[in-house]
Amino acid sequence: MIVELISVGTEILLGNIVNTNAAYLSEKCAGSGLSCFFQTVVGDNEERLMMVLKTAAERSDIVILSGGLGPTEDDLTKETVAKYCRKKLLLNEEWKKHIEEYFARRNVKPTDNNWKQAMVPEGAIVLDNPNGTAPGLILEQKGCRFILLPGPPNELIPLFENSVKPYLEKITDSAIYSQTVKLCGVGESAVETKIKDLIDAQSNPTIATYAKTGEVHLRVTAKGTDAKEAKKLTKPLVKELKSRFETELYTTEEEVTLEKAVIDMLAANGMTLTCAESCTGGMVVARLVNVPGCSEVLKSGVVTYSNKAKRKLLGVKKSTLQKHGAVSAKTAEEMVKGAVFTSKCDTAIATTGLAGPDGGTKENPVGLVFIACNVKGAITVEEHHFSGDRMKIRESATAATLALLRRCLLEYIGKTAFGKN
Ligand code: ATP
Ligand code: MG
Repeated sequence: MIVELISVGTEILLGNIVNTNAAYLSEKCAGSGLSCFFQTVVGDNEERLMMVLKTAAERSDIVILSGGLGPTEDDLTKETVAKYCRKKLLLNEEWKKHIEEYFARRNVKPTDNNWKQAMVPEGAIVLDNPNGTAPGLILEQKGCRFILLPGPPNELIPLFENSVKPYLEKITDSAIYSQTVKLCGVGESAVETKIKDLIDAQSNPTIATYAKTGEVHLRVTAKGTDAKEAKKLTKPLVKELKSRFETELYTTEEEVTLEKAVIDMLAANGMTLTCAESCTGGMVVARLVNVPGCSEVLKSGVVTYSNKAKRKLLGVKKSTLQKHGAVSAKTAEEMVKGAVFTSKCDTAIATTGLAGPDGGTKENPVGLVFIACNVKGAITVEEHHFSGDRMKIRESATAATLALLRRCLLEYIGKTAFGKN
């Protein structure tokens, strides 16, 4: 089935808001096994929306519209689609009650124009929207289905998940199941080379690679008659990926991040961590603190940006800084040594590098970053050459630090993360 997206809103056309709904919906449609061939943005204008509707209906089976379901004059998506489908708008008593209750809960009096949102095109399916006053709507006209969703993402996303997705599964008579395999410490091209045969042979399930900063995610997607069958179909391929990326694979769970995987490993082994950061300026700690319960593991972090701070807080030798410079393997090594010594933690990481844009030399170019890890006295130092702007270099260094820490912990623990299970 071919799906097409229409994002309604002059704000999007003017660049005042970013069209995240289209990105979300196209990803979800692909995940539901639908081919999305067209996306259009159109302003709050009846005539132009009508033109777009006509074109979309001629070439697509499903048209998903977002935005323009609000109570104001310029919100005209529902009215225009109803007109296109030659359907009358009728008062929906049930939705009127929903609006009354919605306002009563917030102790706010509805305005007259709010009742416009209780008007539903004849024969339309009404989809519940617990976070707003506009219902989602589905209308059919000459074999083309129009799905209307409110613009605010906090309304659109739950509506899609709870109502649209099951509807799409029903009409396509199939279910899609996806599982993400997350890898770290390995580049995208190395990953693709390692699984080229699997990519070439893919049919059901399919396999897609996504390069993230410092990570590669592989999405295994299968289509089945129901969710259970689809899930079963993904299993052998996921198992194969687990065996090919034994150490780089840190999770197969959607909600597990690299920082969570690292924190969980430290916690499972009763270990503590401290961080000494220069060029990442606290970004490693910030990512670790994203994980609830990290306090059990993460004890401290210092940003030692100047040479003086590296000496005073971490005991990096003056002679080291003079001889090798702040951006050097030796400095990184002394940083993690000093960090463990002063904090009494089991493990430490350190970063020192040149994030640019200025200050690069031939020997020490922008993007050069040394990362060190100390696990109970065993020190590993890595030299990286990252590219991109200042932010990108710092983000890459942060991800590489977490990946290095994970690798050193694996070596220390002496088995792979999945060996335990
Ligand atoms: P409302 O009842 O809030 O008016 P609506 O369904 O009429 O909802 P719009 O008026 O088009 O939707 O947009 C309301 C808000 O929703 C926008 O200001 C914007 O914050 C968000 N929004 C709308 N369309 C998009 C989009 N395509 N991507 C991301 N956000 C969007
Ligand atoms: Mg609006």
